[in-house]
Formats: sequence, C-alpha cells, structure tokens
Amino acid sequence: MVVTRELNLRTRGHCDIQDITSQVANAVRESGLRTGIVTVFCPGSTGGLTTIEYESGALADLRQVLDEIVPPDRDYRHHLRWGDDNGHSHIRSALIGPSLTVPFVEGRLTLGTWQQIVFLDFDTRPRSRRLVVQVLGEQ
Ligand code: ZN
Repeated sequence: MVVTRELNLRTRGHCDIQDITSQVANAVRESGLRTGIVTVFCPGSTGGLTTIEYESGALADLRQVLDEIVPPDRDYRHHLRWGDDNGHSHIRSALIGPSLTVPFVEGRLTLGTWQQIVFLDFDTRPRSRRLVVQVLGEQ
C-alpha cells in the first residue's frame, strides 16, 4: 500500500535547516502502515534532504563546510544564463540530494537516537515549500 501526503514549510532560505522529523513520523503513524519505507522528496532544484544531529554546533559546521566547498560568491555560469543569483543553491541541492528514504518498523522510524530528518533550503530568499511524503509498506 502507498500513502502520499504533503508537508508545507515556510523557510528563510540561505541554508535554512529545519527539523521535520516529527512531521515525517506523524505521516507514517497516520498512514496506518506498520513496516515499510517513507520517502521525503522536495520538488524544486534548490532544496535538500538529509539527516544530522540537530544541534547548533553541527548545523553551524554543516553551513560552514557548504560555504567552503560551494561558496555563494563564485562566478556561476547559471547566473550568466538566467540572471539568477542562486548558482550555489542548485549545486548544493545536487550534492545533498532532493530526497531521503527512511525505513520504519512497527510504525516507528528506524532513526538513531541523535539523528534527525532535516530539510535544507539553499535558495537566496524566503520560500513556501511543499514536500512530498510517500509512505510505502504493509499493515
Ligand atoms: Zn536558479
């Protein structure tokens, strides 16, 4: 059985990192499925999904490393093509990836104790984001 839901977020952009673990856990619980996998997907090329220990030090470290490997102020050809300012946002999204899949057993996500599901908004402005949450499993 497959159950598809949406998650709506308001983000600030500029590597805004939001903990969406409880919303994903709710989607699994409300599906009524006991065992399976849940996929969270961001339609859009400037968002990312991953897991991290959601504490200010780890979040600051992730932002700093992204600034180092994909700096916002490089000359991106994307800017020349579209007059855009978010070349780094697209590259970060491509590297982190636009989706995440987590197994669940007996209705519970199999996350580690210090592992949270996060959505990252790499765009250069606040956005309203719609994430697709698809729960696939059996009762
Ligand atoms: Zn762009």
